[in-house]
Amino acid sequence: MSKFVLIGSGLAGGLLAAYLGRRGYEVDLYERRADPREGNIVGGRSINLAISTRGIHALEQIGIAEEAMQHAIPMRGRMIHNRAGELHFSPYDVDPKKCINSIGRAALNSTVIEAAQRYSNVRVHFNHKCTSVDIDSPVAHLETASGSVTASGDTVIGVDGAFSAVRKSMQNTIAKFQYDESYLAHGYKELTIPPGPDGSWRMEKNALHIWPRKSFMMIALPNPDGSFTCTLFWEFEGPRSFATTKTDDDVRRFFEEEFPDAVPLMPDLLDDFRNNPTGSLVTVRCAPWSYRDKTCLVGDAAHAVVPFYGQGMNAAFEDCVVLDECLEESSGNRERAFTEYFRRRKENADALADLAIRNFIEMRDKTASKTFRAKKKLDHALEAALPGKYLPLYTMVTFTRMPYAKAAKRAQIQDSLVYASLILIAAVSITAMLWLLAT
Ligand SMILES: Cc1cc2nc3c(=O)[nH]c(=O)nc-3n(C[C@H](O)[C@H](O)[C@H](O)COP(=O)(O)OP(=O)(O)OC[C@H]3O[C@@H](n4cnc5c(N)ncnc54)[C@H](O)[C@@H]3O)c2cc1C
Repeated sequence: MSKFVLIGSGLAGGLLAAYLGRRGYEVDLYERRADPREGNIVGGRSINLAISTRGIHALEQIGIAEEAMQHAIPMRGRMIHNRAGELHFSPYDVDPKKCINSIGRAALNSTVIEAAQRYSNVRVHFNHKCTSVDIDSPVAHLETASGSVTASGDTVIGVDGAFSAVRKSMQNTIAKFQYDESYLAHGYKELTIPPGPDGSWRMEKNALHIWPRKSFMMIALPNPDGSFTCTLFWEFEGPRSFATTKTDDDVRRFFEEEFPDAVPLMPDLLDDFRNNPTGSLVTVRCAPWSYRDKTCLVGDAAHAVVPFYGQGMNAAFEDCVVLDECLEESSGNRERAFTEYFRRRKENADALADLAIRNFIEMRDKTASKTFRAKKKLDHALEAALPGKYLPLYTMVTFTRMPYAKAAKRAQIQDSLVYASLILIAAVSITAMLWLLAT
């Protein structure tokens, strides 16, 4: 049986190790950090994430969905907070049972690693940082507290996130490797709304809260302990930005002006703002994702996207399902499996990258407008009137496993038909009015 060396035991790394372990492969998984079950929470990254249909399906396929989802909190729609502190709730779907779920990153990471470790052929090595990979051999070079070591196998898979060391080695070795990374002008900072005195949630628990402010926004997702993790997405530079907001007074003033209803709920705002890192938001596109049967990329290492569709992890989990299917179909021919996996996933990863950037503009700017709410109502009315025929884009992306590229194309066609129908209705109404006036 072939031996896989996996670099990175984040969300996709743990899950992929479980899938490969179930196929009977020998798997050695190397992670630069300490074991997350020892309380080593991934610093600077989202504490909680939204998991939806694609991600849950991937967990179901390996039999851990129930275990993983036991502490997840359903979010049925967007709760929009305007500057006056007024609230508007906009459900995600016409079917109130369709929701996204807030789940803790650390708990989910532990669950997938434990699922992998149930297979005796999977071994996990923490505190091993990959510095490079000789992709022809393939051999991974790793740093540990006690010196350098190497790990060799038949294939090295890079599941080491947006700043992948495995991808870097592929880039340095493969002629004509295509690589593109683009950063948003916005960064993000995590802040906390702690639980109320009785441990309850101080805002609506079953919603994703959004404070849209045109060029920037804050969001909040609920946690099982009664707290919310807020994320402020804001320009790095500019007259009003992370760069110019230096003192406690600056921070207080900015929050009181922009998020007045949140300030009383954030007693640790100034400490959080000062101490928590400001993260950057990157989109990575590259090709190819594999080299012969020697190396392959999965998850953010292959296609990091900005977080505004809540799909990065969902897509990374979907990669694991597709790669597993390709390994099954290729009867152990790894090169064929990797080529087919790339063929099935690449256009979808590219489509998701575009959708995620577009959704930033929708979330921070359009969700506040009456037109947005009217469009959502029209979407839901059409979905109810034409069941199975009309599916809003958000529904296709979040509540189905339709390939992302197909969902994006179908939404474009639907929108054109809806706009054409509206123009036709307007034209007919005007003609009728003119005819009535003339007679
Ligand atoms: C603010 C924010 C909010 C998000 N919200 C959502 C959301 O709501 N829903 C959603 O689906 N997605 C969300 N995402 C995206 C999601 O976090 C990623 O898509 C997901 O974590 C990708 O999983 P991964 O396993 O590919 O990479 P990662 O989770 O980044 O894991 C990579 C692992 O590799 C390890 N590693 C890195 N380099 C090395 C090395 N050299 N050697 C050894 N180990 C290494 C890292 O320590 C890490 O454990 C969000 C992202 C951000 C930044």
